[in-house]
Amino acid sequence: MLLHKTAREVSAYVYEVQKNGLSVGFVPTMGALHHGHISLINRACKENDRVICSIFVNPTQFNNPDDLSKYPRDFYGDFQKLKQTNCSVLFYPNVSEIYPESSEGDIEIGYLNTVLEGKHRPGHFKGVAMVIKRFFEIVKPDRAYFGLKDYQQYLVVNQINSNLGLGVNVIGCQTLREGSGLARSSRNRLLSKEGKEVAKIFFECLVEAREMIFKHSIAEIKQHVSDRFRSSDLCELEYFEITEARTLAILDNIPPETSVVACVAGYVENIRLIDNLILIP
Ligand code: AMP
Repeated sequence: MLLHKTAREVSAYVYEVQKNGLSVGFVPTMGALHHGHISLINRACKENDRVICSIFVNPTQFNNPDDLSKYPRDFYGDFQKLKQTNCSVLFYPNVSEIYPESSEGDIEIGYLNTVLEGKHRPGHFKGVAMVIKRFFEIVKPDRAYFGLKDYQQYLVVNQINSNLGLGVNVIGCQTLREGSGLARSSRNRLLSKEGKEVAKIFFECLVEAREMIFKHSIAEIKQHVSDRFRSSDLCELEYFEITEARTLAILDNIPPETSVVACVAGYVENIRLIDNLILIP
C-alpha cells in the first residue's frame, strides 16, 4: 500500500490508473478505523481495480471545537489495519493541502441543512460539502463509498455531486453494528464499558419504532422514545424524528407509498452519537 500526503501525488496516481483503463474506488474517512470503515473498503476493493482510502479529520465540519479536539486519532493503528485490506493507497493530507488559501466559499445545501444534523450542528454540512468537493476534484474516483449510518451525509454528498456535476458514482453501504446493535463508530472508543452498554438504547428505540409504525401514531412513537431516554441517567436525547427517506421531510403521519426512515441523535457520557433505521422500505 502506498502512502501519499499531497494532492499532486494522488491525482498523478489516479491519472495513470485510469489512463490504463482501470477503475478507482474512493473511501473517505476521518480515521480511528473500525469494522464499518473496513466493510466500505472491502466493498470498494470488490468493485474497483484500485482503492484509495483517505484519513482526514476535517476541521470545517466540526461546529464544536471541543468535539474536534476530542476526536480519536490513531494513525499507526489505522495504517496497520489498512495494510491488511486490498487498499492500494492511503491518502493522508494535512489541512493546508486540502484547504489552500485560495479555497472557494460556501456550497449551497438548502433544505438538508435545516433539519436533523443540519439544524443541530450548524455549519456541519457546509464543511462536509467543502471537503467532499475538494476530495472528488483531487481523486476523481469512478466510485465513492459512504456509510448509510450517516444517512443525511449520504444525501448531502449525492446532492452536491449532482448539483456541481462532479461525476462520481456515489454508493451507500449498510451500517455495520456491534452484537448489541450499537452502530460501529469511531466515537464508541470514547465510551466506557458501561457507556457502550447504555448506548444500545439508540438501536433498541429504532427497532421499537419499526415495530410500532403501523400500530401507533408518530406522536405516540416519539413519546415512547423520549420516555425511554428519560428513564436512563447516562443518556440524553437530542432528537428523534420520523422522516421521508428520500428528502428527510419530517412526518407527522405516514402518507401512502412513502419510504420512511427514523433518525436519532443524542449523548452518552457527553459523547454525541447518531443512528437511523429504515422503518418502511
Ligand atoms: P467517518 O470516519 O466517521 O467520517 O466515516 C467514514 C465513512 O465510514 C462514512 O461514509 C461513514 O458513514 C462510514 N461509516 C461510519 N460508521 C459506519 C458503520 N458502522 N457502518 C458502515 N459505514 C460506516
